[in-house]
This record gives sequence, C-alpha cells and structure tokens, in this order.
Amino acid sequence: LQFPFPKVLPILNQLNDHGYDAYVVGGAVRNAMLGLPIHDIDITTSATPDIVQNLFQKTVPVGIEHGTVLVIYQGEGYEVTTFRSESEYSDFRHPNHVTFVSSIQEDLKRRDFTMNAMAIDKEGVLIDPYEGKKDCQLKQIRMVGNPLDRIHEDPLRLLRGLRFLSQLDFSLGRHERQAFNETSPLLSKVSIERVSQEMTKLLHGQAVSKALQYLVETNCHKHLLLCENKGEDILSHSKRKLIVLQSDAEHWCAFLMALQIDVQEFCSKWKMSSSLRKAMIKLKSVFQEQAQKPWDVYSLYQSGLEQALAIERLNYVFYSHYSMQDQRIHQLWKKMPIHHRQDVSVTGHDLIKWLNKKSGPWIAHKLEQIEKRILSGQLINRREDIKQWLLQ
Ligand code: ATP
Ligand code: MG
Repeated sequence: LQFPFPKVLPILNQLNDHGYDAYVVGGAVRNAMLGLPIHDIDITTSATPDIVQNLFQKTVPVGIEHGTVLVIYQGEGYEVTTFRSESEYSDFRHPNHVTFVSSIQEDLKRRDFTMNAMAIDKEGVLIDPYEGKKDCQLKQIRMVGNPLDRIHEDPLRLLRGLRFLSQLDFSLGRHERQAFNETSPLLSKVSIERVSQEMTKLLHGQAVSKALQYLVETNCHKHLLLCENKGEDILSHSKRKLIVLQSDAEHWCAFLMALQIDVQEFCSKWKMSSSLRKAMIKLKSVFQEQAQKPWDVYSLYQSGLEQALAIERLNYVFYSHYSMQDQRIHQLWKKMPIHHRQDVSVTGHDLIKWLNKKSGPWIAHKLEQIEKRILSGQLINRREDIKQWLLQ
C-alpha cells in the first residue's frame, strides 16, 4: 500500500528521525480507504506534547491537556496527538484524565468505531487491530470493544454512530443495534451542544433517511429534547427526499416543521446559534407565505436568490408532486434591473433633499414604491428619472 498522505510525510519523518513512532490516524485513514474526500489529517505519535513543540518550528498548543499540539506546516495545521488512553467521562463531556501510553495499539483501543481505529505509517503499513478495513468493505459501523461499555463511557458515541452511518451510508452492526437500544436513555446526559453538532451532521448525510429510521428504531429520539414522542413524525419525515436540502437552516427547518416543533423554543433548548435561529425563522415565514406559489419579480426581490432556491427545495421536500422552479428563478433573477435596495440609484437622503421633508417612516414607504416601479419596468433606475417621478 502506498502512503496516501504525501503532504504530511515530512512531519512523520521528523518524528521518526528523532526516534518516535508516528502515524496518520482516524478519519483520514477511513476516508482514504473509502475513496472519500479527506478533510483533515490527524497524526498520532509516541512523542509527548513538549517534544512535539520542540521538534517543529510553528506549533499551537490547541489541546495540551489532551495531548494535542497543532503543527503548522506549509500554511496548513495538523493536529498531532500523543498516544493516550482515556478513563471514564464522568461529566459526559471530557475524559476525566488522559494517560499517555507508549504504543499505537493502546491508543487505538480508546477510539470509538473500528473504522476510526486504524492508523497508517509512512511506509503505508496499516495498523488495524479491530478489522476496521473489513467493516469499511462491509459498510458497517461496529464499536471498538464492548459496545455497552463504550457507550457508557461516552454516550455521545450513540449519535456519532448514527451520523457516520448517515454520512457514509453504512449500517449498524447487530450487537450495536441492540446496545444502542439499551443505552439510549444515556443520551439525555450528553451536553446539548455536542448533541446538536452531531445531529446537524446527521441531517446533512447522504443516508439521512436511513439514519433517522435508526434513530427511531433504537429509541434514541426518545432522549432528545422536544423529540420524545415524535417517533412517527420522524419516520414520515425520513420518507421525504431530504437529500436535496442544502444549508443547516433548511435541514433543521424541514425537520422542525415535520415534527411540529416551534423554532424559537427549539433554538433556545438546543442552544442553537442566533444566526441559525434567525435564518430558520426567516426561511419558515417565507416558506409559509410562498409555498407552492409561482415566483414573480417582486416576491423574488424580497426573498433574495439564495433564499428563494432554499424555499424551492423545501417545496420539493414537502410537496412531492412539486417540480422545482430553479431555472425560472434564475431567469427572472437575471432579468431583474435591481436585486437589493443598495442597487436603487437613490437613497433616503436624496428623498429628504428633493422633497424637502423631515425624515420619517414615509421614506421606507417611498423607497418601496420606487423599487416596485423599477421592478415592474415603469421606472428606469436612474437618478434623474427617479427624481422626475418623485417631483411630478
Ligand atoms: P470527520 O470527518 O467527521 O472529522 P473523524 O473520524 O475525523 O471524522 P473526529 O470527530 O474529527 O472524527 O474525531 C477524530 C478521531 O478521534 C475519530 O476518528 C476517532 O478515532 C476519535 N474520536 C473522536 N471522538 C471520539 C469519541 N467521542 N470517542 C472515541 N473516539 C473518538
Ligand atoms: Mg476529524
């Protein structure tokens, strides 16, 4: 096997040359094996963090307490983590203490799934004590060691399992299925921030429908805030063509509408960012107004191109007979003389000056009239033309 990450070869060499073991580990190895894009390349080594900091010119101590140093090499950052084992996570967030260990074998033991517990050295030798490669071929999610114990250590692994299943289109191993069911109540102990991160990734996965079905089958949904008795709704939702949805806001908005969960309440309970909350509220209100109606220049202007396309995707998801109007929207958009208020050639100040009136709500109203006339072709978007129309 050829080493699939030539970019980090110099980092592994530097560690090896000083007598330390070093491997690429985790997601990068898994994705390389599956022929999928590689996001970040994580390195694991027998060198302790202080040694790593000494061996490389540019480092950032991003997680020293967990043994992680970010090594900056040719403008990119790579997490280099010392081999370690973990004891229990009593707060369901962070391991109680981290113990550095001397072998890669021991480090791999603490990892969650067999497909994530593979390492590769610079010669391309694969270290795969839990048959991760075989599970990648069989497309199945299996835990390292005893599933019940591993979930008790960190119940977030339930959701991590389901989100990997969604992203990779895998299925859940037989023992895991049973263990997930048994341990699902532990999910309520995991911090909501970690839960919402994993759920967002799950919703974006290529096999989101299957993952939502597993979520219900394993009873995990019963231990997610506001979803406790929404099993039926989640199953119906899973039958929709969710794969067309794109942004976080679209996915979550669709999910919440399907489950009839209030967006505001959800966002505060699930501690969603205020930007996501705002995007969802806007999306939902435009969707409810615009559902299944044909777009015209004015509704498109008010909504904006990106949001209009998002609404089309929601329409498609919720009204299966509906065919998306993307092309028409793009054509309309191209023909529109203005796309935003900033495109209008006059400002509120001009109106105050020309009409010699005090500032007030009339300005917004007038600007709206001007926009409408420009969009309908009754007025040309030129200062002189607009001024003339105003003063007539
Ligand atoms: P992604 O492409 O989503 O980043 P990844 O496999 O890199 O996938 P990360 O969450 O970045 O996933 O974690 C990196 C590695 O750390 C995993 O592959 C796994 O080996 C280990 N890991 C992460 N979280 C846990 C956990 N909660 N329990 C056990 N091992 C974990
Ligand atoms: Mg990662």
